[in-house]
Amino acid sequence: MRVQVLDRLIDSLRRCCQSLRDRRRGKNTQYEMADFGLAAFAVFFMQSPSFLAHQRHLATGRGSSNCETLFGMTKIPGDGQIRTMLDPIDPVQFQPVFADAMDELERSGGMGRFRHLRGLDGGHVLIALDGTEYHRSTEIHCPACSTRKRKDGIEYVHAMLAATLVGPGHNRAVPLPPEFIVPQDGHDKQDCESCAARRWLAAHGGRYARLKPVYLGDDLFSRQPICQAVRDVGGHFLFVCKPSSHPTIEEYLRGIALEELKPPRKRGRQRVTYRWLCDLPLRGDAAAMTVNWLMIEIANADGKVTYRNSFITDLPVGRDSVVELAACGRARWKIESAPQAHTRRRFAMN
Ligand SMILES: [Zn+2]
Repeated sequence: MRVQVLDRLIDSLRRCCQSLRDRRRGKNTQYEMADFGLAAFAVFFMQSPSFLAHQRHLATGRGSSNCETLFGMTKIPGDGQIRTMLDPIDPVQFQPVFADAMDELERSGGMGRFRHLRGLDGGHVLIALDGTEYHRSTEIHCPACSTRKRKDGIEYVHAMLAATLVGPGHNRAVPLPPEFIVPQDGHDKQDCESCAARRWLAAHGGRYARLKPVYLGDDLFSRQPICQAVRDVGGHFLFVCKPSSHPTIEEYLRGIALEELKPPRKRGRQRVTYRWLCDLPLRGDAAAMTVNWLMIEIANADGKVTYRNSFITDLPVGRDSVVELAACGRARWKIESAPQAHTRRRFAMN
């Protein structure tokens, strides 16, 4: 069953790669476009550290038989050829594969694991938005690089806003199409994660609205323009809200008795406390949006606080929902702390 799902996903990628524009002239076509796309994908799928390591692995025979079984490839083009063929391709061309993966997830019944907050409006999916860098160098750069001034010169960066289907209680994650953080036509200023998030919502938000998504993100996202953009595309938000960047909310919290929930703890175990308050203004002006605020605090057996985080959301917060909402808000840390994500770093430049 699982193998069939994998086969269908690889088929989707193969179809997509086969449809890519082939710029070669003449009949010197030992490889088809799909061979280049799948060969590049195989490097990542097999988790090879480099093209060279991948080629060496293939040469051992065991690697090549894996590639042959999984990808139906008997010959592998060299990395130079792969780069020449794939570099001119607009990444947007690969978006159909993300849609196919979602269809497959629904068809195979896998979507059930991603439905949370079932007590609220029949359940929601969680989509984590996160900025991530995938190239950083003081030397290697191109016209599409973002730049950052450093003491010793200029740093060149490629970054993207990653959107990922996540959930608490399991470590599965399904990537959705990314939005690249690149200098935009007609704008002098550098692009930023917040702008990319709004572009992502405008481009894709409508398509996922039927899944009733709750968008997760860090403190950078808990500002009115992004919260509004989420609402505009039929989504909900559950964003980290740091006290230091939300003075209006802090002021409200200070002057009022908060609702509180302390689930009974097992002897000698950590103590978790939830607090919340509904209907606060997100910022200080008359046009401020009204949000609900919640926080979770974890103390160890000695009473020392080991974790504390607070969130804002447009979902109803109460005694029956606060525990799961806090768990959902924390679900995105899993993708942040994944081993391959050790290069993830805040990406905001001015
Ligand atoms: Zn570049």
